[in-house]
Amino acid sequence: MTATAPALEFSTTFSSSPVPAERRAEILANPGFGTSFTDHMIMATWTPDAGWHDAGLRPYGPLSLDPATATLHYAQSIFEGLKAYRHEDGSIWTFRPDANGTRFQRSAARMALPELPVESFVESLDLLVRTDSEWVPSGGETSLYLRPFMFASEVFLGVRPAKHVTYSVIASPAGAYFASGVKPVSIWLSSEYTRAAPGGTGAAKCAGNYAASLVAQQEALVNGCDQVCFLDAQERKWVEELGGMNLYFVRADGSITTPSLTGTILEGITRDSILTLAADLQHKVEERAVSIDEWREGVASGEITEVFACGTAAVVTPLGRLAWNGGELRMGDEPGPVTQEIRTALLDIQYGRAQDRHGWMHRIM
Ligand SMILES: *Cc1c(COP(=O)(O)O)cnc(C)c1O
Repeated sequence: MTATAPALEFSTTFSSSPVPAERRAEILANPGFGTSFTDHMIMATWTPDAGWHDAGLRPYGPLSLDPATATLHYAQSIFEGLKAYRHEDGSIWTFRPDANGTRFQRSAARMALPELPVESFVESLDLLVRTDSEWVPSGGETSLYLRPFMFASEVFLGVRPAKHVTYSVIASPAGAYFASGVKPVSIWLSSEYTRAAPGGTGAAKCAGNYAASLVAQQEALVNGCDQVCFLDAQERKWVEELGGMNLYFVRADGSITTPSLTGTILEGITRDSILTLAADLQHKVEERAVSIDEWREGVASGEITEVFACGTAAVVTPLGRLAWNGGELRMGDEPGPVTQEIRTALLDIQYGRAQDRHGWMHRIM
């Protein structure tokens, strides 16, 4: 359960029936998001006595689960999401994988799951991407999306932390997250539902947070919006984040503000990177509480000129409209200049077109 646990040794068993090259090329030509998977996966097991063991790469395939597998009942389950990028010279890189590994440990601690050494987390990604490197698409904003996850695999119906835990990584080629490209998205302000409460699991990347957000997302769709924005659970006053992305506000003077981390906001690595990048670009950067009234009044008065969301999957996405029960606010039909500047700066580092001044890129091959 400690960060100093010895790093894992990964065995390798290669697939004897990989997807034929022709079919793979078809998939890579139009990857969509989260629908096709590579030829291999990572698996490892944890038990209290043996710690992490049986770690290896093996052919991608279904898991066989006993109906009493604990995670199916009590959702002791966490995940991560990051991307492998192919650079112009053919090399393949991930972006701050150690930050994902550290967050994975924090999520594990919150959900009473064992911590995986960050070194083993990064190594497992490297091994999977190296093995399935032909699945890393090239060109445009394509990538290989990596999904590490961990769940209670003990067969037991009692409510307590599982004594058998499974770690796995799967990989899926990805095109742009929103089919509409960088067009501004519309956001539904949920007044009925909240995402996270003080003392709850909002800062952990756990499966249950997403389960709890789905009805709010459905409400957004019914109201003609793409995504939900959640307010804080206590006062229903402070802007927190979207269902899977953090928020930034751009002001008329070029400064940018993001809601401060209060334990109920997921600590996005994109959010964190933008704090640094925006400062590099000479923007004044602020982390502080932003109320929904400040958002509405700021857009109305012209004090807030752009609002954007950020996360690994969608990178940086402009918000065009905020709608709620009884009203709406328009923020522009085109991406704003600061949103575009930050989006380009981040993508240029990730795709190797700009110097990596902060040592964020990790070369796999
Ligand atoms: C994963 C996630 C984010 C974005 O985090 P990144 O590390 O930037 O991908 C934001 N909010 C929630 C709720 C998330 O689950």
